[in-house]
Amino acid sequence: MSLIEVERLNKNYFTDGVPTGILRDVNLKVEENEFVAIMGPSGSGKSTLLHILGFLERKKIIEETVEMVGLERRLHYETSKLSGGEKQRVAMARALVNNPRMILADEPTGNLDSQSGGIVMDTLKQLNKKGHAVVLVTHESYTASYASRIIHLLDGQVEREELMARRIDEEKMFIK
Ligand code: ADP
Repeated sequence: MSLIEVERLNKNYFTDGVPTGILRDVNLKVEENEFVAIMGPSGSGKSTLLHILGFLERKKIIEETVEMVGLERRLHYETSKLSGGEKQRVAMARALVNNPRMILADEPTGNLDSQSGGIVMDTLKQLNKKGHAVVLVTHESYTASYASRIIHLLDGQVEREELMARRIDEEKMFIK
């Protein structure tokens, strides 16, 4: 099952009642443990898409975590109406929810020198190997090269998707 799936996603901003299409019919799936980069010119909608993915992420994870501690029937209760035991289970859910299955990063290497950027990207790669899906926004090819898939946005639409070959250092590890 996909971690996140959006189908025909549209987002408009309104100025004086006039809509501007920021995202137009975007289809996107992120699988468990995937590493995805979103690229595109400035203003193409990358950050907007990442924010929307963050909201979808969060809602699903909160619901799953609440279910894990058996509080799904209390999801919309006010905290003051919960019993002591239920409040404890809420505290557990809060801790569990912080182990994210998906990491969203907007320009994680922006404003960093190449060495610091490399460290950040290696850390993201390690987290990905440990089982966290990663979705990042970047306009740097080097940063995007860590991903296994690159989604190119243009004027709010997915222009094309690019599947990346396995990186050379991983090939070497694989041959060993
Ligand atoms: P990118 O991350 O690719 O540079 P953004 O997602 O930040 O693009 O923005 C896409 C477009 O949406 C831009 O034209 C930007 O001006 C516009 N935009 C972003 N946020 C708002 C907002 N709150 N109100 C109106 N327009 C916005």
